[in-house]
Amino acid sequence: MKKIIDYRTIVGDKVISDIYQKAGALRKKRIININSTYAGGGVAEILGSLVPLMNDVGVQADWRIIRGTPDLFNITKKFHNALQGDNINLSRIKKELYLQANESFSQYAYIDQDCVIVHDPQPLPLIQYYCKQQPWVWRCHIDLSRPNNELWDFLKNYILQYDKIILSSKDYVRADIPIDQVLFQPVIDPLTAKNKHLKDVDVHKYLKKFKIPTDKPLIVQISRFDKWKDPIGVIEVFKKVKKKIDCRLVYCGGMAGDDPEGIIIYEQVKKRANNAISSGDVLLITHENNILVNILQRVAAVILQKSLREGFGLTITEALWKGKPVIASNVGGIPLQIKDNETGLLADPKDYDYIADRIIEIIKNPEPYEKMGKVGREYVREHFLVTRLIEDYFDLAAKMVH
Ligand code: UDP
Repeated sequence: MKKIIDYRTIVGDKVISDIYQKAGALRKKRIININSTYAGGGVAEILGSLVPLMNDVGVQADWRIIRGTPDLFNITKKFHNALQGDNINLSRIKKELYLQANESFSQYAYIDQDCVIVHDPQPLPLIQYYCKQQPWVWRCHIDLSRPNNELWDFLKNYILQYDKIILSSKDYVRADIPIDQVLFQPVIDPLTAKNKHLKDVDVHKYLKKFKIPTDKPLIVQISRFDKWKDPIGVIEVFKKVKKKIDCRLVYCGGMAGDDPEGIIIYEQVKKRANNAISSGDVLLITHENNILVNILQRVAAVILQKSLREGFGLTITEALWKGKPVIASNVGGIPLQIKDNETGLLADPKDYDYIADRIIEIIKNPEPYEKMGKVGREYVREHFLVTRLIEDYFDLAAKMVH
């Protein structure tokens, strides 16, 4: 069972006491979160910790997922891509299927909580199928800085019905939305299987179990097989590095339940890395396993996050928490956590030579980068642990729920 008190040694007494105080003011209040998957991706990761910890301190928190059909997730993945700048053919049928799935879910989910938090675009229109009796908050985890205009205009029909919007970065705040927009940066849970401290003996045991060789330095990117994570670019950078230094690449990407493109992108990556996969220099991993992610992040020589767009990038937060040298793209929410040359390295994702050279440098001379990793860990402790998010939500609820 998750208990807030277990975080005391990590965040200190004051944070724990503040959480109890704030929960006291909300005792017996009920909050429901609605998103589109229980597993895979950052939102599920956060809710998996947030919801039980809220319950532990006496605020009644709930988590439901929208009953989605493959149709819905195909459409909402296109929406996700278009919100990040892609074109979309926004046909009548797409809009209808999207709305029908939401309407249908409303007949399965009775909502009478004191506050409703809807995550991302998939369940966004739900609001119009309820007789709204409480504050509704739209928590959007996506980079909204350059959405496709037609789609944005369509989604605004539903967004405008909300009482509050939560975004991850001030760069995503929309001047064309007359609703209060607040910033909550995402967080990790330091006590989950993915982030907890592991003894060397356990690390070795699991490396053997998952057949991960450590005879050469490992470059690791943990990401869904998604074009915005640029897996093809990762392979190209690796080829450049490999010409100058002997190493391996591990790309670990489980398939999220609400991401139908994963398998297609995986096949493309496999094709591009064909020879390197046969020689064992590139390992593509597709099963979701939290301990495996933890271990890969711990044994990596370098953590890479070569995203082209990134709302925030929890994989980076996780790597920093493990004190690892990280090189990541200077896009979206990534600079909120990577301060160039302080907590890690930032790079232009198109500059393959620069990224490859920095990776080689880190492998050859790790010491200064390990120091950055330690600074990164403290930065995460201060800003990006789940205890901070609990306080953010309690502060918000205290203002909205009566
Ligand atoms: N993740 C995982 N296994 C994988 C790939 C990703 O557990 O094979 C997790 C990763 O550790 C992180 C989350 O999924 O906690 C991804 O969050 P992020 O914000 O980096 O990206 P998103 O997938 O939400 O775009």
